[in-house]
Amino acid sequence: MEESQPASIDLGAIRERYARERDRRIRPDGARQYRSAVGEFGYYAKDPYTPFRERDPRTDRVEVLVIGAGFGGLLAGASLRRVGVESIRLMDEAGDVGGTWYWNRYPGVRCDVESYVYMPLLEETGAMPTERYAKGEEIRRHAVRIAEHYDLYRDTLFQTLSTSLTWDEDAAEWIVETDRGDRFRARYVITSTGTLTQPKLPGIPGVESFRGHTFHTSRWDYGYTGGTADGNLTGLTDKRVAVIGTGATGLQAVPILAESAGELLVFQRTPSTVDVRDNRPTDPAWAASLKPGWQRERMENFLAVLAGEPVDELLVTDGWTATVALQRNIITGAVDESLTEEERAYRDELDDAATMNRIRARVDEIVADPATAEALKPWYRYMCKRPGFSDLYLQAFNHSNVTLVDTSDSQGVTAMTETSIIVGDTEYEVDCIIFATGFDAGVSGVVSGTLPVTGRDGRRLLESWATGPRTLHGFYSHGFPNLLHLGAVQTASSVNFVHILQKQAEHVAAVIARAEHEGARRVEPTAEAEERWLRTLHETAHDSSAFQAECTPGYYNAEGTRSFTGLSYSPGPVAFHRLLSKWRAGDMSEVLVHEDASARKAEMAS
Ligand code: NDP
Repeated sequence: MEESQPASIDLGAIRERYARERDRRIRPDGARQYRSAVGEFGYYAKDPYTPFRERDPRTDRVEVLVIGAGFGGLLAGASLRRVGVESIRLMDEAGDVGGTWYWNRYPGVRCDVESYVYMPLLEETGAMPTERYAKGEEIRRHAVRIAEHYDLYRDTLFQTLSTSLTWDEDAAEWIVETDRGDRFRARYVITSTGTLTQPKLPGIPGVESFRGHTFHTSRWDYGYTGGTADGNLTGLTDKRVAVIGTGATGLQAVPILAESAGELLVFQRTPSTVDVRDNRPTDPAWAASLKPGWQRERMENFLAVLAGEPVDELLVTDGWTATVALQRNIITGAVDESLTEEERAYRDELDDAATMNRIRARVDEIVADPATAEALKPWYRYMCKRPGFSDLYLQAFNHSNVTLVDTSDSQGVTAMTETSIIVGDTEYEVDCIIFATGFDAGVSGVVSGTLPVTGRDGRRLLESWATGPRTLHGFYSHGFPNLLHLGAVQTASSVNFVHILQKQAEHVAAVIARAEHEGARRVEPTAEAEERWLRTLHETAHDSSAFQAECTPGYYNAEGTRSFTGLSYSPGPVAFHRLLSKWRAGDMSEVLVHEDASARKAEMAS
């Protein structure tokens, strides 16, 4: 190894400490330690924002049904409108559009990705975020703006869950059934059901016995807390409030809770990294100086930088663009080919250690109490957990009404009683428990089987995918015509996931437009095309399992059991978008089926 280790970094000691911290957190029950918010815990998933509205079941027909009205679904709707599709129906379990931003309205909620690249279609809708990191409510309203701008409210089914999709080969369309008694038809179905949607709770013994007030951050109960996402939670001024969980959500909610709660107890198991946030209002002079096309250019530049592609200029400078090489450990993209794999790994590890040392030093700079500061320091490699950014979170622990309760020795909260939270031998009496404990990863929609799909010849999607998803480019599968998926399966991803969804939405709209233009009977990849894509994914796959295995447990590595990410296109999103663009310039013959094969067989036989 040519490079020598800087004197300030003792990799051996760091490795040893990381392994120790990981080992004491690994639980034998792994991902089984959690409970889904269903059954007796269904209360935690109830929508607190929109009263239930009765409606008559639908039995009609639409051209395109879009399942999921978050940014993915909205971008699909917008892209379809642009290619001239009139009949679009948006369906969502929520009471309105917005997806993540519909559900997550907790105090302090903001996006961690710069809003100028995160909030899509700014120029198209004539919008400009008020801040560099916009508040959740501003982002939610932007989702509404997109729906209005593209006339997507014209046909919506909110508070509705699809319960089955069945392909009708004779009519070449889907029969859609829902939990509201609908049974209607759709020529195309696009699913965009998200990856982190269902709230999850820790399986703490006695969790059901707590008699105080309790809710999950993604279903915030402002009726109880008072106030808004900006604070002034007057209902909490005389309360002892507990927050369980210190992930990206906890980081944002804690400072606002600290301002309002009589007393705030923050139950932490693993500290997050908390790097500089550096939010600021949008500079009107800067906004006025932007030339048409600026947003696309900025988004593409941000994506290229994060994907490790060469760029002439760095348009966004933030915590994400500063840690590109470190993200490569779990997010795919181009790597520095001038180094050997071993050299790269060593350089990354040094870079990682320097970044983490800086983040740990920041805790000491901000947090006054040395014991609290020590407990707030993260001991793992940078991308083991979702990186966090805040200029308020660590500061909150200097307030006299805020206490950090470190639960790492007991691998989390030990138990709950009617009135208290127990950690080890200590009992903490509280009035209210707020679960900032995250979401079941990847359980929504077709992948998990919560939406059963029966395709051509009665074949079940999950049976076809028994050994893992099989798709062409992540969008569609052989045997399941006119069913197109947006999301994170067998595609390339990035931190700016909405940009990824936008590209996917534009792609599927282009495919549908071509199919309609050519009068194709179905959009369905050939078995060969599907097989080829699987081979490409395997051949280019970057194996992150060694990195994941050394990480402290979390949803990224299925609580220390395996890599959650699955197969993705390792050359990264920019290379993927290039590949798609080239593919679209071709004749699309591997997905456009012009006649019914059985009819052709019958015709040939006669
Ligand atoms: P996470 O899954 O990231 O965090 C859950 C937290 O709950 C962790 O701190 C976890 O500790 C803790 N926890 C779980 N079980 C227990 C237990 N038994 N006792 C004590 N603590 C426990 O969920 P979040 O909602 O914070 O974030 C989910 C994802 O949502 C993020 O990773 C990010 O992708 C996204 N997000 C994005 C935001 C943005 O700005 N763009 C903002 C908020 C969320 P441990 O780490 O030890 O498991």
